[in-house]
Amino acid sequence: MELKESLLLLRKNSRIYHKKIINSIIYQDKVNVCPFCSSENNLTKEHVIPKWVFGNRSEKYFTTNTNGLEQTYSKATIPACSFCNTQILSTLEHEIVRKMRGVNLVNEYFSDEDHNDIILWLEIIEYKFHVLNMRRKFLKSKNGRFIPYLSEFPLSILQNNPLTPSQIFSVIRKAHRNLAVKSKSNRYNSLVVFRTTNPDFHFFHTTDHFIFLELAEFGVAFFYFFNREFKLLSQAHKEANIIIDKVY
Ligand SMILES: [Zn+2]
Repeated sequence: MELKESLLLLRKNSRIYHKKIINSIIYQDKVNVCPFCSSENNLTKEHVIPKWVFGNRSEKYFTTNTNGLEQTYSKATIPACSFCNTQILSTLEHEIVRKMRGVNLVNEYFSDEDHNDIILWLEIIEYKFHVLNMRRKFLKSKNGRFIPYLSEFPLSILQNNPLTPSQIFSVIRKAHRNLAVKSKSNRYNSLVVFRTTNPDFHFFHTTDHFIFLELAEFGVAFFYFFNREFKLLSQAHKEANIIIDKVY
């Protein structure tokens, strides 16, 4: 499938099935639903962090600050229907790889169109984390109701100001709605692109705040602020550097 066609479908499904999808994630009326189109058929395992981002690294794990625990790549999966997995998400990922291969960041920069696709890709990862975390909480609760478990929901531990359940739900709704937004132009300055010679994969992520992905194979790292808009890219750059310094 062509990228444009795939993304059009992703946006369309996000709008049409928003309520149905969010209800299935939050209220768990149906556990096994594709979180991109609400289909209950042909469900496959979609990796929250795609395998290719780990490059040659043999141990594929990553840490996410949502729970402060190391998560293995292979266990961090959510359901997605086979169509969304192979025709939409994979198509976008192939495009991201193609863009990274095609640009020489020594003297070039990503185009606006590239920015749009990269931002969408990072927003999809954020959304997948939300789905993963909600599912994990639910699956643990067995036949119990979901709501009582929210007091220990990882998102609320992490934030400086703990989120109430309704705030968590609104963050998830927003993460899903972002997928329906075609132009990310107001967010271009929220994406900082670094050249890197670091030989290893690095990743950190704080839900609803930022994501950092260092892709050794391509000599590129992305830092994206999910919620912030900046007048100047240099401001985002400066703030991203402060956070990176703290983590490393
Ligand atoms: Zn689907």
